[in-house]
Amino acid sequence: MLKITFCPTCGSRKIKKVRRNWSAKSHGKSYTVPLLEFYECPVCGEKIFDRQAMRRIEEHSPAFAKTRASKVHAPA
Ligand SMILES: [Zn+2]
Repeated sequence: MLKITFCPTCGSRKIKKVRRNWSAKSHGKSYTVPLLEFYECPVCGEKIFDRQAMRRIEEHSPAFAKTRASKVHAPA
């Protein structure tokens, strides 16, 4: 499990693990990952996702649903 004690962006030690519904938009579609655990820095807003969190995001994200192995190519 990833252990983070300070924010890599601003160096604040106030960064902490939070658990909340994560909403994001991908390819024009919004999606929600319920009760996602990740680190959030209250100072600069940096968010850090560990491996497990990344996997959960990928599972819910429409961007990863079909193009998991191949690269996402932008329309010309
Ligand atoms: Zn920070």
